[in-house]
Amino acid sequence: MVTPFVDGWDFVQTLGEGAYGEVKLAVNRSTQEAVAVKVINLTKSKGAADNVRKEVCIHRMLTNQRVIQFYGQRKEPNVQFLFLEYASGGELFDRIEPDQGMPQRQAHNYFLQLISGVEYLHKKGVTHRDLKPENLLLDEHDNLKISDFGLATVFRHQGKERLLGKCCGTPPYVAPEVLKKKEYHAEPSDLWSCGVILVAMLAGELPWDEPSYDCKEFCNWLDKRVELTPWVKIDTIVLALLKKMLSEVPSRRYTITQIKNDRWYCKTFKSKGFSRLPSSSPPGSFKRVCTGTDLSPSSANREETPGKYSSSQPSICGGLGTSTIDSSSVEDLIYGVSFSQPVHLDDMLLGSQLPCTPGNSQTPFQKLVKRMTRFFTKYSVEESIHSLLEVLEKLGYQAKQTSAGQLTITTQDKRRNPLTFKATLVDMDGKVLVDFRLSKGDGLEFKRKFVKIKGKLASIICKGPVQLQR
Ligand code: ATP
Ligand code: MG
Repeated sequence: MVTPFVDGWDFVQTLGEGAYGEVKLAVNRSTQEAVAVKVINLTKSKGAADNVRKEVCIHRMLTNQRVIQFYGQRKEPNVQFLFLEYASGGELFDRIEPDQGMPQRQAHNYFLQLISGVEYLHKKGVTHRDLKPENLLLDEHDNLKISDFGLATVFRHQGKERLLGKCCGTPPYVAPEVLKKKEYHAEPSDLWSCGVILVAMLAGELPWDEPSYDCKEFCNWLDKRVELTPWVKIDTIVLALLKKMLSEVPSRRYTITQIKNDRWYCKTFKSKGFSRLPSSSPPGSFKRVCTGTDLSPSSANREETPGKYSSSQPSICGGLGTSTIDSSSVEDLIYGVSFSQPVHLDDMLLGSQLPCTPGNSQTPFQKLVKRMTRFFTKYSVEESIHSLLEVLEKLGYQAKQTSAGQLTITTQDKRRNPLTFKATLVDMDGKVLVDFRLSKGDGLEFKRKFVKIKGKLASIICKGPVQLQR
């Protein structure tokens, strides 16, 4: 069953999950407008409410084509909903082929967009602090958008920069100075992460677990061992840029201006359009809510009114609620009265399970995001689970049936870090869709494991692309 969220809006799919809760896709039944809803469970951790307040405070002051637009929020006693521009192209991460990366022209295109987004943030005085391919989303035209401001903070206010001290981020992407537990400048640390993202895009692997002297791969980089992987896979002209971006000393690291003058950065690739990976998503059919009337709630309706912040940047956060959306239906979504607590989404994952209610049967309602990590099998759910369990056992992964039609798989990546992902099996008109989603760990490793599992299940997998359409 599709779960009605607010009158006229349905949750149709889980887009992602994190430590806090889930991100779901809500679609308006009559207009087909789509909005991503980040559902944050405030009871999960002590600081959750404060963290989300800060995330909202920062996110809503950002309006740029390279940043996921923040539309608004809703608060319930134990759960908070953030309404965000929906990126139907999924994560940049899904365009990275394990161990191969992507064509250079495509990486170049994304990299330019990334730098443009980061430049916007830095001009606003905001640092993201968790830049990585999982937090870079793509819209239906393959435009990159920076997302997830859960760790973002303001580093410059009224022209005055403050140094940061908090050690946060995702270890493989984090800059070395952030790990050193001393004060650091925000801008170079974000740019370091952009360098690591560029490596991931071009080589399909991460250069190290973390940039510390305990990590052999990092020491090799400092020793200029570029004959080793991943560097050996990377063109020398890009490598020249990476040497500057991944310079250990922040003051010697390339600034945005220097990056923008770099030879590779300025290179023009022939304009035949870059090729997508075969499994990447075609344009989604949902309408994105776009700019228009300001539907930001009046300050009386807001959860946070100017001056209520206990953060260090109250005046910034207060006056900048600039989210703009044009549809009253979205207003309903955010402030609607008929709101009901969403139920577990796996029940309404797929088209075959959606009711044929008038108004949605002829629509692209069920055309869901295609992801790289799913396939159809020719057998029933039970038989497919059986085959899957056999393969998982052979591969030495631990698998547990966590609910009907769902397995949770735990293993380790090649650097022995824990990796957890879920496989959800759903019957769709006689074919069974097996949908894999990362829960915890390195996304590239997750994809490598997925490719292995898929390879071993070849005999039961239906050929052809996974088109989730009625
Ligand atoms: P946090 O780091 O604050 O705990 P998180 O990493 O768990 O958050 P997000 O990065 O905001 O949460 O979202 C998790 C995933 O959900 C993303 O990686 C992406 O796959 C999906 N997602 C989030 N926002 C959107 C969106 N606007 N459109 C499409 N998918 C989204
Ligand atoms: Mg994230």
